[in-house]
This record gives sequence, structure tokens and C-alpha cells, in this order.
Amino acid sequence: MQIPEHIKKITPYTPGKPIEELKRELGIPEPIKLASNENPLGPSPRAVEAIRVALNTVNRYPDGNGYYLRKKISEKMRVPFECIVLGNGSNEIIEMITKAFTQDGDNVIVSQPSFLIYKIAAQTLGVEVRPVPLNDFRVDLDSMASKVDDMTKVIFVNNPNNPTGTIISSDDLERFLGSIPRDVIVVLDEAYIEFVTDDACPQGIDYINQRGPWIVSMRTFSKAYGLAGLRVGYGVSAANITDLLNRVRQPFNVNLLAQVGALAALDDDDFFTKTRNLVWEQREVLYKGVERLGLSYIPSETNFFLIKLPIPVRIVYEKLLRKGVITRAMDSYGLDNYLRISIGLPEENRIFIEKLSEVLREME
Ligand SMILES: *Cc1c(COP(=O)(O)O)cnc(C)c1O
Repeated sequence: MQIPEHIKKITPYTPGKPIEELKRELGIPEPIKLASNENPLGPSPRAVEAIRVALNTVNRYPDGNGYYLRKKISEKMRVPFECIVLGNGSNEIIEMITKAFTQDGDNVIVSQPSFLIYKIAAQTLGVEVRPVPLNDFRVDLDSMASKVDDMTKVIFVNNPNNPTGTIISSDDLERFLGSIPRDVIVVLDEAYIEFVTDDACPQGIDYINQRGPWIVSMRTFSKAYGLAGLRVGYGVSAANITDLLNRVRQPFNVNLLAQVGALAALDDDDFFTKTRNLVWEQREVLYKGVERLGLSYIPSETNFFLIKLPIPVRIVYEKLLRKGVITRAMDSYGLDNYLRISIGLPEENRIFIEKLSEVLREME
């Protein structure tokens, strides 16, 4: 079999370990998962109720146009309906972007470490990926701009950045946009923007009207809205860009229950507020817990943060697993001494600090 070279080069994405897998493999009855930045409060109750009602209609295809969900997003975000594209998770929008805007010989620019899907989406098409190291755990826009050439088609900026939790400022973004060619697509992946408190942080939707560099703002229902398992996200861009994304989109890419659930979640202000308050409050609790263990961390604008360890993270990760706590070892991102932890429920966070403390003592 002749497998294309660019496909052989892909390292598959390793997701956070599923709770069921830990139960099965290690016989742990109730593992705690703080590994995938999910919403620990569960799904939005309004979404659950809407899905229950819609269950009896799944014999029908979903609305391929996503009319009601796009209309609601349009009203809520104050962006034109035709500027919105829906995705089977924002992950799918990343794929649509590389499909629509790149071909052989082109390149895309990503920061590193950042979300691994940008790289995989480009590699799948045989497109060159130019990684740009972070500077002091922050996305280095100047350095990214310096990598741009005539064949650069897309630049992925994750704001706030996963796995560091840091943001870029509006000033940084505007200077950057002024320094790159106008025909480049700049993707602002804003999966965690709902958790940001710093006013300096830009919102991608404020930039979609400019005529290049073209901005695509990507958002998701997987984090603040608690619908990661449903797979639904959206992109907002100028209508001409959205039109191109819709051409490469599968007609029924967002399933019926996901559309209905997301629509209801957008109206669930109670759940949204509860989620943010939990994250903001418990993030402080976790910071203090980590400090008490004599460890340092990277302050975050999101529902996760990095903890610096005195020993290789892989060992700590494995020991925590055996104690029933799933975290994320950052060695696969090139950060061998960093553990990423998602903000959980108060009890989960308490247990995490307790188990981490045990692990550190065992390692002395
Ligand atoms: C979680 C996350 C997303 C969301 O992906 P979905 O496909 O919408 O679940 C997107 N980007 C980053 C950086 C993330 O961490």
C-alpha cells in the first residue's frame, strides 16, 4: 500500500484519559477527571431538557443550515447571520479552514506549545506547519509575523492559549494585524474566552469587518456551556470567508441534538454564571493549594492552569492516575515538568491537592 508521506508523519492526538477507561483498567470506582477542561457542573440543565424533548425527532435529518442556532448566535453576539458557520465542535472548523484556504506548497503558522489540532489539520493536507515557540509562556505574535512569507495562508492564534492559559492584548493583536499581508487568514481560537477577566483581551468578533487580514473567531459549546460530548462550535468571519467555509462543510455536520442543546444553552444564563463563578473562585483555591505544596504555577485566564513540578511530569501523572485522579501531563507538548489541571468541583480540587501532596512526599 502506498501511504502518503505526509500522513505517515502525523502523530495522533492523545485526548485526556476517559473516566470509564480508568475504571476498567485500574478498577478505580470513582475517578476524578481534571484533564480536558470540561465543565465540572455537568451540562446546562436547559440544554438537557431541550434535548429530551427533541429525542423523538431524530428520525429526521437535522437542519443543514442550522437556522435557529445561527439566528440565536447572531442576536446574542450581534453579528450578521451569514457570518456564522457551525461546526461539529470547533475542531471541525479548524479542518474547514485548512481545507478551504490551503493547498500543496502553502504553509500555516502555529505557536508551540498550543492546541495540537492546528498542526494535525494542516499535516493531513500535506501543508507545511511553521511552529513558533512561546515567549515566557505567551503567544509571541512578533515572532509569528516574522515567519510569514508569500505562501503563508493561515495563522492560528489560540487566545487564551491552551495549555498555558495566557492571553494576548488588543494592542498586540492590532499591531500584529498591521504587520502581516492582508490576504492571510488569522484564526482566533477563543474556546476559553468566556472565562477571561482581563479587559485587555480582544474579542475576535470585533475584527471581522476589516477587509484583511481576515479574522475567523472560533467559539465552542464544549467548555463554558458544558456540552463537550455533543460536539458543537461555531466560527464568525466576514461573509465572503464564511461562504468559503460553508462550501467545504458536510451538509449535516452538526447533529440535531447538538443544535437543539446549544440553542437552549445560550439562554441558560444561570448555568453560565454559575460556571464562571465556580471557575474563578476555585482557581484561587487551587492556586493557594499549589503554593502550600511549595510549587509554582502559570496564572491563567481560563478553566485550567499549568503547575511546575520539581520532577518529570510523566511520573507524577502516572502516580496520580493510580490514586484515581486524571490530569494532563504536558510532556507531549514539550513541557516535561508541567502538569495541566482543569478546575473541578470544590471536592475534586481538594482531593487533587491531597493526592498531589501524597505523590510529592512519596517522591522525596
Ligand atoms: C477545548 C478546545 C477547543 C474546543 O474544541 P471543540 O471541538 O469545540 O470541543 C478548541 N480549541 C482549544 C484550544 C481547546 O482547548
